[in-house]
Amino acid sequence: MSQHDVVVIGAGHNGLICAAYLAKAGLDVMLVEARDSVGGCASTVDAVGARVNICNCDHLMVRATPIADELDLATHGLRYLDVDPALLALTWDGDAPWFLFSDPERTVAWLAKTYPSQVSAYRAYLCDSHAAARLVVSLSGGRADIRSILANAAVIGGRGARRLLSWSRRSALDVLSSYFDEEPLLLPALVTGPTVWGRDPDAEGTGLAALGYAVRHQLTVGRPVGGSGALTDAVRSALEGAGGVVRCSSRVFGVEQSDDGWIVKTAAAIYKARAVVGACDPRTVRTDFLGEDDPTPEPDGFESKIDAVLTERPRYLALEGLDLGGVDPLVPTAVVSPTLSELIAACEAKRQGKVVDRPMLLVNVPSVLDDSMRVGESGHVLSLEVLWTPYGLQGGWPGSNEPQRWLDQYSTLVQPGFADTIRAWRVMTPPDYEEQFGMRRGYAPSFPGTPIDAVRGKPRPLARYRADEPGLYFTGAATYPGAGIWGASGRNAAAAVISDLS
Ligand SMILES: Cc1cc2nc3c(=O)[nH]c(=O)nc-3n(C[C@H](O)[C@H](O)[C@H](O)COP(=O)(O)OP(=O)(O)OC[C@H]3O[C@@H](n4cnc5c(N)ncnc54)[C@H](O)[C@@H]3O)c2cc1C
Repeated sequence: MSQHDVVVIGAGHNGLICAAYLAKAGLDVMLVEARDSVGGCASTVDAVGARVNICNCDHLMVRATPIADELDLATHGLRYLDVDPALLALTWDGDAPWFLFSDPERTVAWLAKTYPSQVSAYRAYLCDSHAAARLVVSLSGGRADIRSILANAAVIGGRGARRLLSWSRRSALDVLSSYFDEEPLLLPALVTGPTVWGRDPDAEGTGLAALGYAVRHQLTVGRPVGGSGALTDAVRSALEGAGGVVRCSSRVFGVEQSDDGWIVKTAAAIYKARAVVGACDPRTVRTDFLGEDDPTPEPDGFESKIDAVLTERPRYLALEGLDLGGVDPLVPTAVVSPTLSELIAACEAKRQGKVVDRPMLLVNVPSVLDDSMRVGESGHVLSLEVLWTPYGLQGGWPGSNEPQRWLDQYSTLVQPGFADTIRAWRVMTPPDYEEQFGMRRGYAPSFPGTPIDAVRGKPRPLARYRADEPGLYFTGAATYPGAGIWGASGRNAAAAVISDLS
């Protein structure tokens, strides 16, 4: 049995970041990971003869944190490429496309060409959302305590805090439709907000999704050179450089409290530690490791992703004949939206285990921006995220024609003959995420509360990282401020452990 100050369970980006801060603080850290490599959902893997990202690889909030500087990740090989424009908005109906650029004026100039009636609406939206988006960005690396909120609000002004509170209580559809009356302006924020969170667009408490455009004017989306996994590889290098140890292929199956700390069990080894950080889904710690009943019903996963190698670049029909002013339309993620009524119908279809005819898509071709992801001289990698694709698909996933149907649907948006350019492809469905990444029912967790809940410390272990049992901690996307690749939760959980152990 080896003895450590802290054992961290799960080497997703949050577990790695947490472990790296602990090691940097001089603690003896062991990080155990079930898979044979680190990174979790933020990793880049070998598949279909290429390097492909598990997630969609648009890193946003992590860029607002001090993590890259504090862990000196550039020295450990991390380099980001800016994704600007950040979004290309397309619809299944072939409505006029629009780009969201980092610069709001460039965005407005584009809208003046394709949606002149929405220009003043966009300006009003920018004016109202600016202070709240600044507050979100300035809080992104911090804790959810009232002192940090007040300190940030004092610098930015109370207006942002008031807007944040009032929008967070409303639905995304309600907030956005108070500005925009053309669906192609409403829908991308609904798709990148509530749809990605698995929520209905008119569900109360989703209103902060309306900040989606405003935040992208304050922070530039980035993709690490070499793929999303270059972030987690750099954090691993920083962790090991500070003396931490990583053990892959080590699935934890049990955790026990002992007289003077905790015992963590894997098939190959038993570890003793003063503290344990669960950096996998907290429900896994409670039910699988500690053998407790799960009081909260497990949400079902709803995301799938196709990765394909293409012999040539796709060309969107909706962009043909438009003067793009030198913009490469394959750099941003394309958000492909159905109509609003189809999106609302998709909510019911998801509950019934069905995928709608025209699903919501998030599409990018990472090899266009990043040469290192090319396949040979001219091969490109297509990343096609499809929403919603329920874990419990009616008729079951094995043998289902759904994934082929999504590719066929996507083909209708691009040049004729696109299907012949696909050299190889694979799909990851919710059951695949469950099997390969330990995501229960294929669900990618995110913090279940609002920012107000977080300030109040609710639910307590998820907002404050400390479990009721002394020496047990949680981090990960299920904890505040979890949603995607952010890392603040890993950093905050490390601060809680360091303060308690010292
Ligand atoms: C299809 C898809 C697309 C996405 N696109 C984006 C995007 O573009 N931008 C963005 O910001 N976010 C995106 N996300 C979300 C983002 O990838 C995740 O929220 C984030 O990576 C979660 O990180 P984490 O460190 O909290 O957990 P995870 O990455 O889930 O890491 C948990 C780790 O714990 C390990 N583990 C589990 N059980 C055990 C056990 N018993 N013993 C040991 N180890 C264990 C797992 O193997 C895993 O490595 C996407 C997610 C999906 C599924």
